[in-house]
Amino acid sequence: PGVQLPHDPSKKTLVVLGSGWGATSLLKSVDTSDYNVIVISPKNYFLFTPLLPSVAVGTLNPRSIIQPTRYVTRHKARQVSVIEASATEVDPVAKTVKFEDTSEIQGLVSTTTVNYDYLVFAVGAEVQTFNIPGVKEHACFMKELEDAEKMQRRFLDCLESAAFPGQTQEEVDRLLHMVVVGGGPTGIEVSGEIHDFLEEDLRSWYPELANNVKITLVEALPSVLPMFSKQLIDYTESTFKEASIDILTKTMVKEIKEKSVVLQRPDKSIVEVPCGLVIWAAGNKLRKVTQDLMAKLPQAQTNRRGITVDEHLRMAGTDGSIFAIGDCSATSYAPTAQVASQQGAYLARIFAQIAKRDNLEARLRELQSAPQAEETAAEVTSVTKQLAKAEKLRPFQYSHQGSLAYIGSDKAIADLPFFNGNLATGGVATFLFWRSAYLSTLFSLRNRTLVATDWIKVKLFGRDVSRE
Ligand code: FAD
Ligand code: NAD
Repeated sequence: PGVQLPHDPSKKTLVVLGSGWGATSLLKSVDTSDYNVIVISPKNYFLFTPLLPSVAVGTLNPRSIIQPTRYVTRHKARQVSVIEASATEVDPVAKTVKFEDTSEIQGLVSTTTVNYDYLVFAVGAEVQTFNIPGVKEHACFMKELEDAEKMQRRFLDCLESAAFPGQTQEEVDRLLHMVVVGGGPTGIEVSGEIHDFLEEDLRSWYPELANNVKITLVEALPSVLPMFSKQLIDYTESTFKEASIDILTKTMVKEIKEKSVVLQRPDKSIVEVPCGLVIWAAGNKLRKVTQDLMAKLPQAQTNRRGITVDEHLRMAGTDGSIFAIGDCSATSYAPTAQVASQQGAYLARIFAQIAKRDNLEARLRELQSAPQAEETAAEVTSVTKQLAKAEKLRPFQYSHQGSLAYIGSDKAIADLPFFNGNLATGGVATFLFWRSAYLSTLFSLRNRTLVATDWIKVKLFGRDVSRE
């Protein structure tokens, strides 16, 4: 039994799980004329993740980088149902999704089920903690909007506590030691943003603390940013050196305590380092709802990185009614916004073609059950031809637009495809390119205006250091 939504029973129901990069890109382009579209996500907004680290130090206002999903769907040909809930279970045989209102306030009904004809599974991933003790309890993540807000509060709390009269020097040093775990782009960008805050604002707002702040980036592998070219890794490392950000490579975090991190050094020795704040940016893992769905198709779904899909992004082991995109799927591409959004746009095109195919099939059935007439035979031939064409779905093809990351000190790095080769650039000009690229990628004029205004505000007045 599924819930009754104000829908046209003659149309197929397309359920979209998630409101992130993959889902939003699909929703932007999908033609809703032929589908009853239902979006289910615990967040009723889209989050522009590339600018999340800027929220963590107050460069950007949290609201500037989010966009309500209803804003995205409001101009669609037919109304889209947006439901704020978490999908808890997908039944690929009965073709149902069970979902639950997991927010603070709930009505009398908070769990129900909906039927789908097509399902787009785009629930992303969650933070990988490797079950390392203390990570959940003591570290800040950098994945959701509330993570960045939490980090900002704690970061400012460290500064205010260090400024508390009578603090010992040792305690000041501890409180002002910021440890970032993970040398992927998230960890690098967060470190760069903290550094900017220190350079541009700490000296004016907390002059007595300015020389005591220390940033350490810990990475288990031999180098940071493995997805960038060697030249840009070296450039990032030298920029961090100039900015006095310590990079500890081949060093693994073994435990996080309330006031320290336990590190395993390259020589395997263990050291406990006091710190005020730990930011955990150690990568992704699958959500439970994804793992549970994969477990229902054990023969076809054996990749521990995510859902295996075919070249049309259909989930392997299903009858083709479930599509998986973005970070919850395992493809040969990195789990990035760029990939997820191209997959979402691709699916919008596929659904247009599927609708065409379904309509032609229905017409053919109608014609075949009608009394045979000459015109009918001619139409059957024509519809059959069109159907054969509509059945040929083009495979998904990813087009890499390059990798970009902000590394602090008004510098960014970019690996861009250039003719048949690669252009690796880093510096202030790349930073301006980074800003303009992200400004233009933001989904709406509203977001673009808000982000640009925040940047100007920070230039004019500095960052807001009030702790909410
Ligand atoms: P998401 O965008 O994470 O969306 C998942 C959606 O599913 C969310 O709306 C979530 O609320 C929803 N959801 C969760 N659980 C459920 C459930 N049970 N039921 C229904 N819905 C659910 N990539 C780049 O290419 N360039 C960058 O510069 C870049 N910067 C980044 C910076 C940061 C700080 C981070 C964390 C990531 C960055 N990425 C970047 C990676 C990029 O954000 C991800 O690859 C991208 O978000 C993946 O898109 P997605 O749609 O698969 O998942
Ligand atoms: P990531 O997986 O790229 O990096 C995590 C890093 O943490 C790894 O290098 C890993 O070796 C390290 N690590 C894990 N456990 C550790 C431990 N216990 N101690 C020390 N180090 C440890 O994660 P991410 O940076 O969050 O990126 C996730 C995805 O999002 C990637 O695909 C990335 O390309 C994408 N992303 C892109 C951008 C960008 O293009 N600017 C920005 C952010 C994220």
